[in-house]
Amino acid sequence: MFEPPSELSLFKRLVLRLCGHVYIGSRTMPGWSSSLPFYAFRCPVHGLVVDYPRGFNEKLRCPLCFEDMTREADAPLVQTDLEQLVPEIKQV
Ligand SMILES: [Zn+2]
Repeated sequence: MFEPPSELSLFKRLVLRLCGHVYIGSRTMPGWSSSLPFYAFRCPVHGLVVDYPRGFNEKLRCPLCFEDMTREADAPLVQTDLEQLVPEIKQV
């Protein structure tokens, strides 16, 4: 989880408004061999967040939304699906 900067300069706020994201610096996270550029941008749900471009299309995504997505995809749903797909499991 990357904390957004508490205060962006006027120039960076302007870039953020115009481009939808603004470069805030390069960081190296544990396990990374090199640093990556980090950007601040606005998530419609969580407000100002920070992330780095990911994947082939180098998209920025809100780390908090991603956390919610992975949490929702966890155990309860999988278990329900399994019971519906393989009802014998419950009878054994
Ligand atoms: Zn979000």
